[in-house]
Amino acid sequence: MALAMFAALPLGLLIVWLSQGIQRRLGKKHIKAKVDSASRLQEYLLGMREIKAYNLSGERFVRLKEAFKRLKKESIRIEGLIGPILMVAIAILRSGMTFMIFTGTYLLAGGQLTLPVFLLFLLMGNRVFEPLTVALVNYAELNYSVLSSERIMEIRREKPLPGEKNAPPGAGIVFQDVTFAYNSAEVIRNVSFSIPEKSITALVGPSGSGKSTITRLIARFWDVRNGKILMDNEDIREIDPEKLLSRISMVFQDVYLFRDTIRNNIRVGKMNATQEEIEWAAKQACCHEFITALPQGYDTPVGEGGCTLSGGEKQRISIARALLKDAPIVLLDEATASLDPENEVQVQKAINALVSRKTVVIIAHRLKTIKEADNIIVLDEGRVAEQGTHEALLKNRGLYRNLWDLQQESAGWTMTA
Ligand code: ADP
Repeated sequence: MALAMFAALPLGLLIVWLSQGIQRRLGKKHIKAKVDSASRLQEYLLGMREIKAYNLSGERFVRLKEAFKRLKKESIRIEGLIGPILMVAIAILRSGMTFMIFTGTYLLAGGQLTLPVFLLFLLMGNRVFEPLTVALVNYAELNYSVLSSERIMEIRREKPLPGEKNAPPGAGIVFQDVTFAYNSAEVIRNVSFSIPEKSITALVGPSGSGKSTITRLIARFWDVRNGKILMDNEDIREIDPEKLLSRISMVFQDVYLFRDTIRNNIRVGKMNATQEEIEWAAKQACCHEFITALPQGYDTPVGEGGCTLSGGEKQRISIARALLKDAPIVLLDEATASLDPENEVQVQKAINALVSRKTVVIIAHRLKTIKEADNIIVLDEGRVAEQGTHEALLKNRGLYRNLWDLQQESAGWTMTA
Protein backbone atom coordinates (compact mmCIF):
# COMPACT_ATOMS: atom_id res chain seq x y z
CA MET A 1 0.00 0.00 0.00
CA ALA A 2 2.85 2.40 0.87
CA LEU A 3 4.61 1.56 -2.40
CA ALA A 4 1.39 2.25 -4.33
CA MET A 5 0.99 5.56 -2.51
CA PHE A 6 4.40 6.80 -3.68
CA ALA A 7 4.49 4.97 -7.02
CA ALA A 8 4.04 8.18 -9.02
CA LEU A 9 6.33 10.32 -6.86
CA PRO A 10 9.56 9.72 -8.90
CA LEU A 11 7.78 10.65 -12.15
CA GLY A 12 6.38 13.87 -10.60
CA LEU A 13 9.82 14.86 -9.26
CA LEU A 14 11.45 14.00 -12.60
CA ILE A 15 9.11 16.38 -14.42
CA VAL A 16 9.88 19.20 -11.98
CA TRP A 17 13.61 18.48 -12.21
CA LEU A 18 13.55 18.38 -16.02
CA SER A 19 11.64 21.67 -16.16
CA GLN A 20 14.34 23.45 -14.12
CA GLY A 21 16.12 24.64 -17.30
CA ILE A 22 12.93 26.30 -18.63
CA GLN A 23 12.22 27.75 -15.18
CA ARG A 24 15.69 29.34 -15.02
CA ARG A 25 15.50 30.71 -18.56
CA LEU A 26 12.04 32.22 -18.09
CA GLY A 27 12.89 33.38 -14.57
CA LYS A 28 15.97 35.28 -15.82
CA LYS A 29 13.94 37.00 -18.54
CA HIS A 30 11.17 37.85 -16.07
CA ILE A 31 13.62 39.35 -13.55
CA LYS A 32 15.29 41.37 -16.32
CA ALA A 33 11.89 42.72 -17.44
CA LYS A 34 11.03 43.62 -13.81
CA VAL A 35 14.33 45.46 -13.24
CA ASP A 36 13.95 47.24 -16.57
CA SER A 37 10.41 48.43 -15.76
CA ALA A 38 11.52 49.65 -12.33
CA SER A 39 14.36 51.72 -13.78
CA ARG A 40 12.14 53.11 -16.57
CA LEU A 41 9.54 54.07 -13.98
CA GLN A 42 12.21 55.82 -11.92
CA GLU A 43 13.43 57.61 -15.05
CA TYR A 44 9.84 58.68 -15.77
CA LEU A 45 9.33 60.08 -12.28
CA LEU A 46 12.69 61.86 -12.13
CA GLY A 47 12.27 63.33 -15.60
CA MET A 48 8.65 64.37 -15.05
CA ARG A 49 9.40 68.06 -15.69
CA GLU A 50 10.97 67.45 -19.13
CA ILE A 51 8.37 64.81 -19.98
CA LYS A 52 5.55 67.28 -19.29
CA ALA A 53 7.34 70.10 -21.10
CA TYR A 54 7.66 67.99 -24.25
CA ASN A 55 4.17 66.54 -23.89
CA LEU A 56 5.43 62.99 -23.56
CA SER A 57 3.49 62.03 -20.42
CA GLY A 58 1.34 58.92 -19.93
CA GLU A 59 1.02 56.57 -22.89
CA ARG A 60 3.28 58.81 -24.97
CA PHE A 61 6.36 57.91 -22.94
CA VAL A 62 7.16 54.98 -25.17
CA ARG A 63 10.15 53.61 -23.22
CA LEU A 64 8.06 53.02 -20.09
CA LYS A 65 5.15 51.65 -22.11
CA GLU A 66 7.45 49.21 -23.91
CA ALA A 67 9.04 48.11 -20.61
CA PHE A 68 5.62 47.40 -19.08
CA LYS A 69 4.58 45.53 -22.22
CA ARG A 70 7.69 43.33 -21.98
CA LEU A 71 7.01 42.71 -18.28
CA LYS A 72 3.42 41.71 -19.05
CA LYS A 73 4.60 39.32 -21.79
CA GLU A 74 7.26 37.71 -19.57
CA SER A 75 4.83 37.42 -16.62
CA ILE A 76 2.23 35.67 -18.80
CA ARG A 77 4.92 33.44 -20.27
CA ILE A 78 6.32 32.35 -16.91
CA GLU A 79 2.88 31.76 -15.38
CA GLY A 80 1.54 30.15 -18.58
CA LEU A 81 4.39 27.65 -18.86
CA ILE A 82 5.49 26.94 -15.30
CA GLY A 83 1.87 26.75 -14.02
CA PRO A 84 0.81 23.84 -16.32
CA ILE A 85 4.11 21.96 -15.73
CA LEU A 86 3.52 22.18 -11.97
CA MET A 87 -0.13 21.15 -12.40
CA VAL A 88 0.91 18.04 -14.37
CA ALA A 89 3.54 17.16 -11.74
CA ILE A 90 0.97 17.60 -8.93
CA ALA A 91 -1.64 15.52 -10.82
CA ILE A 92 0.90 12.72 -11.34
CA LEU A 93 1.91 12.90 -7.69
CA ARG A 94 -1.72 12.74 -6.56
CA SER A 95 -2.43 9.82 -8.85
CA GLY A 96 -0.66 7.82 -6.10
CA MET A 97 -4.00 8.05 -4.24
CA THR A 98 -5.79 6.32 -7.15
CA PHE A 99 -3.10 3.61 -7.29
CA MET A 100 -3.54 3.08 -3.59
CA ILE A 101 -7.36 2.73 -3.84
CA PHE A 102 -7.01 0.15 -6.65
CA THR A 103 -4.28 -1.77 -4.83
CA GLY A 104 -6.22 -1.57 -1.54
CA THR A 105 -9.46 -2.84 -3.14
CA TYR A 106 -7.54 -5.66 -4.81
CA LEU A 107 -5.81 -6.64 -1.56
CA LEU A 108 -9.07 -6.28 0.41
CA ALA A 109 -10.89 -8.57 -2.04
CA GLY A 110 -8.06 -11.09 -1.75
CA GLY A 111 -8.27 -10.96 2.04
CA GLN A 112 -4.66 -9.70 2.35
CA LEU A 113 -5.77 -6.39 3.87
CA THR A 114 -8.29 -5.57 6.58
CA LEU A 115 -10.83 -2.75 6.20
CA PRO A 116 -9.48 -0.63 9.12
CA VAL A 117 -5.93 -0.70 7.63
CA PHE A 118 -7.35 0.20 4.23
CA LEU A 119 -9.22 3.19 5.73
CA LEU A 120 -6.13 4.18 7.70
CA PHE A 121 -4.08 4.33 4.46
CA LEU A 122 -6.78 6.42 2.78
CA LEU A 123 -6.65 8.92 5.66
CA MET A 124 -2.84 8.93 5.63
CA GLY A 125 -2.77 9.42 1.85
CA ASN A 126 -4.83 12.58 2.15
CA ARG A 127 -2.48 13.93 4.82
CA VAL A 128 0.70 13.04 2.91
CA PHE A 129 -0.20 14.56 -0.48
CA GLU A 130 -1.11 17.96 0.91
CA PRO A 131 2.43 18.89 2.13
CA LEU A 132 4.03 17.25 -0.92
CA THR A 133 1.96 19.48 -3.22
CA VAL A 134 2.98 22.55 -1.21
CA ALA A 135 6.62 21.42 -1.38
CA LEU A 136 6.46 21.13 -5.19
CA VAL A 137 5.01 24.64 -5.56
CA ASN A 138 7.57 26.03 -3.09
CA TYR A 139 10.37 24.29 -4.97
CA ALA A 140 9.44 26.24 -8.12
CA GLU A 141 9.39 29.49 -6.13
CA LEU A 142 12.69 28.59 -4.52
CA ASN A 143 14.23 28.23 -7.99
CA TYR A 144 13.06 31.77 -8.80
CA SER A 145 14.50 33.12 -5.53
CA VAL A 146 17.84 31.43 -6.28
CA LEU A 147 17.99 33.46 -9.50
CA SER A 148 17.44 36.70 -7.55
CA SER A 149 20.03 35.75 -4.94
CA GLU A 150 22.54 34.97 -7.73
CA ARG A 151 22.31 38.65 -8.72
CA ILE A 152 23.03 39.68 -5.13
CA MET A 153 25.96 37.24 -4.99
CA GLU A 154 27.36 38.72 -8.20
CA ILE A 155 27.56 42.12 -6.49
CA ARG A 156 29.03 40.58 -3.34
CA ARG A 157 31.71 38.84 -5.40
CA GLU A 158 32.91 42.19 -6.79
CA LYS A 159 36.34 42.88 -5.36
CA PRO A 160 36.85 46.22 -3.58
CA LEU A 161 39.31 48.59 -5.21
CA PRO A 162 42.82 47.62 -4.10
CA GLY A 163 45.03 49.98 -2.10
CA GLU A 164 45.94 49.96 1.58
CA LYS A 165 48.21 52.95 2.06
CA ASN A 166 47.23 56.01 4.04
CA ALA A 167 46.55 59.15 2.02
CA PRO A 168 49.73 61.28 1.89
CA PRO A 169 49.76 64.62 3.73
CA GLY A 170 50.41 66.76 0.63
CA ALA A 171 47.66 67.66 -1.83
CA GLY A 172 49.57 68.19 -5.09
CA ILE A 173 48.34 66.09 -8.01
CA VAL A 174 50.29 64.92 -11.07
CA PHE A 175 48.89 63.20 -14.19
CA GLN A 176 51.63 61.19 -15.93
CA ASP A 177 50.77 60.12 -19.47
CA VAL A 178 47.27 59.04 -18.41
CA THR A 179 45.00 57.15 -20.80
CA PHE A 180 41.49 56.05 -19.87
CA ALA A 181 38.45 54.49 -21.54
CA TYR A 182 35.03 53.72 -20.04
CA ASN A 183 34.46 50.99 -22.63
CA SER A 184 36.56 50.50 -25.72
CA ALA A 185 36.93 54.08 -26.97
CA GLU A 186 39.62 56.11 -25.21
CA VAL A 187 38.22 59.33 -23.74
CA ILE A 188 41.46 60.52 -22.07
CA ARG A 189 44.61 60.17 -24.18
CA ASN A 190 48.19 60.53 -22.96
CA VAL A 191 47.32 63.38 -20.63
CA SER A 192 50.10 64.85 -18.48
CA PHE A 193 49.90 67.90 -16.23
CA SER A 194 50.57 68.86 -12.64
CA ILE A 195 48.41 70.63 -10.11
CA PRO A 196 50.57 72.21 -7.38
CA GLU A 197 49.30 72.16 -3.81
CA LYS A 198 47.02 75.08 -2.87
CA SER A 199 46.65 76.29 -6.45
CA ILE A 200 43.56 76.77 -8.60
CA THR A 201 43.44 74.76 -11.82
CA ALA A 202 40.59 75.17 -14.28
CA LEU A 203 39.57 72.52 -16.79
CA VAL A 204 37.96 73.94 -19.90
CA GLY A 205 37.06 72.55 -23.31
CA PRO A 206 34.11 71.63 -25.48
CA SER A 207 31.41 69.35 -24.13
CA GLY A 208 32.58 65.70 -24.11
CA SER A 209 36.27 66.65 -24.09
CA GLY A 210 36.88 64.77 -20.81
CA LYS A 211 36.68 67.43 -18.07
CA SER A 212 34.36 65.48 -15.73
CA THR A 213 36.26 62.26 -16.41
CA ILE A 214 39.47 63.87 -15.17
CA THR A 215 37.85 64.89 -11.87
CA ARG A 216 36.38 61.36 -11.49
CA LEU A 217 39.82 59.85 -12.08
CA ILE A 218 41.32 62.06 -9.35
CA ALA A 219 38.65 60.80 -6.93
CA ARG A 220 39.40 57.25 -8.21
CA PHE A 221 35.86 56.43 -9.30
CA TRP A 222 37.76 54.46 -11.95
CA ASP A 223 41.40 53.45 -12.27
CA VAL A 224 43.44 54.68 -15.23
CA ARG A 225 44.16 52.30 -18.09
CA ASN A 226 47.71 53.51 -18.70
CA GLY A 227 49.97 56.00 -16.98
CA LYS A 228 49.72 57.18 -13.38
CA ILE A 229 48.00 59.73 -11.19
CA LEU A 230 50.18 60.78 -8.28
CA MET A 231 49.06 62.52 -5.11
CA ASP A 232 52.04 63.93 -3.25
CA ASN A 233 54.26 61.48 -5.26
CA GLU A 234 52.11 58.48 -4.27
CA ASP A 235 50.30 56.49 -6.98
CA ILE A 236 46.62 56.86 -6.03
CA ARG A 237 46.04 53.18 -6.91
CA GLU A 238 48.05 52.27 -3.82
CA ILE A 239 46.00 54.48 -1.49
CA ASP A 240 42.99 53.07 0.36
CA PRO A 241 40.00 54.50 -1.66
CA GLU A 242 38.14 55.62 1.48
CA LYS A 243 41.20 57.43 2.83
CA LEU A 244 41.71 59.04 -0.56
CA LEU A 245 38.08 60.28 -0.61
CA SER A 246 38.43 61.69 2.89
CA ARG A 247 40.98 64.15 1.39
CA ILE A 248 38.63 65.30 -1.37
CA SER A 249 35.48 67.47 -1.35
CA MET A 250 33.28 67.43 -4.41
CA VAL A 251 30.68 69.96 -5.43
CA PHE A 252 28.66 68.78 -8.39
CA GLN A 253 26.19 70.62 -10.56
CA ASP A 254 23.23 68.40 -9.76
CA VAL A 255 23.05 68.56 -6.00
CA TYR A 256 21.25 65.69 -4.31
CA LEU A 257 19.35 66.54 -1.16
CA PHE A 258 18.37 63.67 1.11
CA ARG A 259 14.82 63.46 2.38
CA ASP A 260 15.76 64.93 5.73
CA THR A 261 16.12 68.29 7.46
CA ILE A 262 18.41 71.01 6.10
CA ARG A 263 20.60 70.53 9.19
CA ASN A 264 21.14 66.83 8.47
CA ASN A 265 21.68 67.54 4.78
CA ILE A 266 24.57 69.86 5.67
CA ARG A 267 25.84 67.40 8.28
CA VAL A 268 26.55 64.88 5.47
CA GLY A 269 29.94 66.66 5.17
CA LYS A 270 30.88 65.71 8.75
CA MET A 271 28.54 63.37 10.56
CA ASN A 272 29.61 64.41 14.08
CA ALA A 273 29.46 68.18 13.43
CA THR A 274 28.02 70.34 16.20
CA GLN A 275 25.23 72.88 15.64
CA GLU A 276 27.84 75.69 15.82
CA GLU A 277 29.94 74.05 13.10
CA ILE A 278 26.89 73.55 10.88
CA GLU A 279 25.87 77.19 11.29
CA TRP A 280 29.45 78.34 10.64
CA ALA A 281 29.54 76.37 7.37
CA ALA A 282 26.08 77.66 6.40
CA LYS A 283 27.16 81.26 7.06
CA GLN A 284 30.35 80.85 5.01
CA ALA A 285 28.35 79.31 2.16
CA CYS A 286 25.76 82.15 2.26
CA CYS A 287 22.96 79.77 3.31
CA HIS A 288 22.31 80.91 6.87
CA GLU A 289 20.06 83.79 5.90
CA PHE A 290 17.64 81.92 3.68
CA ILE A 291 17.56 78.95 6.06
CA THR A 292 16.64 81.07 9.10
CA ALA A 293 13.96 82.83 7.04
CA LEU A 294 12.14 79.47 6.61
CA PRO A 295 9.46 78.86 9.28
CA GLN A 296 11.20 75.75 10.63
CA GLY A 297 14.75 77.05 10.04
CA TYR A 298 17.42 74.35 10.08
CA ASP A 299 14.73 71.74 10.85
CA THR A 300 12.90 72.33 7.56
CA PRO A 301 12.49 69.05 5.72
CA VAL A 302 13.90 69.10 2.17
CA GLY A 303 14.31 66.59 -0.64
CA GLU A 304 11.49 64.46 -1.96
CA GLY A 305 8.20 65.67 -0.52
CA GLY A 306 9.88 68.44 1.53
CA CYS A 307 10.43 72.12 0.86
CA THR A 308 11.94 72.77 -2.53
CA LEU A 309 14.95 75.02 -2.79
CA SER A 310 16.15 76.92 -5.84
CA GLY A 311 19.14 75.67 -7.86
CA GLY A 312 21.44 78.29 -6.33
CA GLU A 313 20.28 77.49 -2.78
CA LYS A 314 20.86 73.79 -3.31
CA GLN A 315 24.32 74.44 -4.65
CA ARG A 316 25.15 76.62 -1.64
CA ILE A 317 24.00 73.78 0.67
CA SER A 318 26.39 71.43 -1.12
CA ILE A 319 29.16 74.01 -0.68
CA ALA A 320 28.33 74.17 3.05
CA ARG A 321 28.70 70.38 3.17
CA ALA A 322 32.11 70.64 1.51
CA LEU A 323 33.15 73.43 3.90
CA LEU A 324 32.26 71.21 6.86
CA LYS A 325 34.29 68.35 5.40
CA ASP A 326 37.26 70.72 5.11
CA ALA A 327 39.24 68.41 2.77
CA PRO A 328 42.49 69.78 1.26
CA ILE A 329 41.43 69.00 -2.34
CA VAL A 330 38.27 70.49 -3.83
CA LEU A 331 36.77 69.26 -7.10
CA LEU A 332 34.21 71.72 -8.31
CA ASP A 333 31.80 71.52 -11.23
CA GLU A 334 30.63 75.06 -11.86
CA ALA A 335 26.87 75.34 -12.49
CA THR A 336 25.93 75.67 -16.14
CA ALA A 337 22.34 76.58 -15.42
CA SER A 338 22.19 80.32 -15.39
CA LEU A 339 21.51 81.59 -11.91
CA ASP A 340 19.81 84.88 -11.26
CA PRO A 341 22.36 87.65 -10.55
CA GLU A 342 21.80 87.62 -6.78
CA ASN A 343 22.18 83.85 -6.55
CA GLU A 344 25.24 84.00 -8.78
CA VAL A 345 26.95 86.50 -6.47
CA GLN A 346 26.05 84.39 -3.40
CA VAL A 347 27.27 81.15 -5.01
CA GLN A 348 30.51 82.85 -6.05
CA LYS A 349 31.02 84.13 -2.49
CA ALA A 350 30.40 80.62 -1.15
CA ILE A 351 32.88 79.14 -3.62
CA ASN A 352 35.49 81.73 -2.64
CA ALA A 353 35.09 80.71 1.02
CA LEU A 354 35.47 77.05 0.08
CA VAL A 355 38.53 77.25 -2.11
CA SER A 356 40.80 79.49 -0.05
CA ARG A 357 44.02 77.66 0.88
CA LYS A 358 42.95 74.50 -0.95
CA THR A 359 44.07 72.58 -4.03
CA VAL A 360 41.20 73.32 -6.38
CA VAL A 361 40.25 71.73 -9.68
CA ILE A 362 37.33 73.53 -11.24
CA ILE A 363 35.37 72.54 -14.33
CA ALA A 364 34.59 75.92 -15.80
CA HIS A 365 31.77 76.56 -18.23
CA ARG A 366 31.91 80.34 -18.10
CA LEU A 367 35.47 81.39 -18.80
CA LYS A 368 35.12 84.79 -17.11
CA THR A 369 34.89 83.04 -13.71
CA ILE A 370 38.34 81.44 -14.04
CA LYS A 371 40.38 84.37 -15.35
CA GLU A 372 42.34 84.38 -12.08
CA ALA A 373 43.12 80.63 -12.05
CA ASP A 374 46.81 79.71 -11.62
CA ASN A 375 46.62 77.29 -14.54
CA ILE A 376 43.99 76.65 -17.19
CA ILE A 377 44.09 73.26 -18.90
CA VAL A 378 42.29 73.23 -22.24
CA LEU A 379 41.05 69.78 -23.25
CA ASP A 380 40.04 68.70 -26.71
CA GLU A 381 38.84 65.15 -27.46
CA GLY A 382 40.58 63.79 -24.37
CA ARG A 383 43.97 65.45 -25.03
CA VAL A 384 45.54 68.54 -23.48
CA ALA A 385 45.33 71.05 -26.32
CA GLU A 386 47.09 73.83 -24.40
CA GLN A 387 47.62 75.11 -20.87
CA GLY A 388 48.69 78.29 -19.14
CA THR A 389 47.28 81.41 -17.55
CA HIS A 390 44.35 83.33 -19.04
CA GLU A 391 46.62 86.01 -20.57
CA ALA A 392 49.10 83.48 -21.98
CA LEU A 393 46.31 81.42 -23.55
CA LEU A 394 44.68 84.50 -25.10
CA LYS A 395 48.03 85.36 -26.69
CA ASN A 396 48.37 81.78 -27.93
CA ARG A 397 45.37 82.25 -30.25
CA GLY A 398 44.42 78.57 -29.95
CA LEU A 399 41.27 76.73 -28.81
CA TYR A 400 40.98 78.80 -25.59
CA ARG A 401 41.03 82.03 -27.57
CA ASN A 402 38.27 80.64 -29.82
CA LEU A 403 36.12 79.63 -26.84
CA TRP A 404 36.75 83.01 -25.18
CA ASP A 405 35.81 84.97 -28.30
CA LEU A 406 32.66 82.86 -28.71
CA GLN A 407 31.58 83.53 -25.12
CA GLN A 408 32.34 87.24 -25.42
CA GLU A 409 30.27 87.37 -28.58
CA SER A 410 27.28 85.54 -27.04
CA ALA A 411 27.46 87.79 -23.94
CA GLY A 412 26.69 90.74 -26.21
CA TRP A 413 23.64 89.11 -27.80
CA THR A 414 20.29 90.81 -27.41
CA MET A 415 16.78 89.65 -28.24
CA THR A 416 15.13 91.43 -31.12
CA ALA A 417 11.47 91.31 -31.85
P1 ADP B 1 32.92 66.77 -20.37
O1 ADP B 1 32.87 66.83 -18.88
O2 ADP B 1 34.09 67.52 -20.95
O3 ADP B 1 31.65 67.19 -21.03
P2 ADP B 1 33.04 63.90 -19.99
O4 ADP B 1 34.27 63.65 -19.20
O5 ADP B 1 31.73 63.89 -19.27
O6 ADP B 1 33.19 65.25 -20.82
O7 ADP B 1 32.94 62.83 -21.17
C1 ADP B 1 34.03 62.47 -22.00
C2 ADP B 1 33.59 61.33 -22.90
O8 ADP B 1 33.33 60.18 -22.12
C3 ADP B 1 32.31 61.63 -23.69
O9 ADP B 1 32.47 61.10 -24.97
C4 ADP B 1 31.24 60.88 -22.92
O10 ADP B 1 30.26 60.44 -23.80
C5 ADP B 1 32.01 59.70 -22.33
N1 ADP B 1 31.46 59.26 -21.03
C6 ADP B 1 31.28 60.05 -19.95
N2 ADP B 1 30.81 59.31 -18.90
C7 ADP B 1 30.68 58.04 -19.36
C8 ADP B 1 30.26 56.80 -18.78
N3 ADP B 1 29.86 56.73 -17.50
N4 ADP B 1 30.26 55.70 -19.55
C9 ADP B 1 30.67 55.75 -20.84
N5 ADP B 1 31.09 56.88 -21.46
C10 ADP B 1 31.11 58.01 -20.75
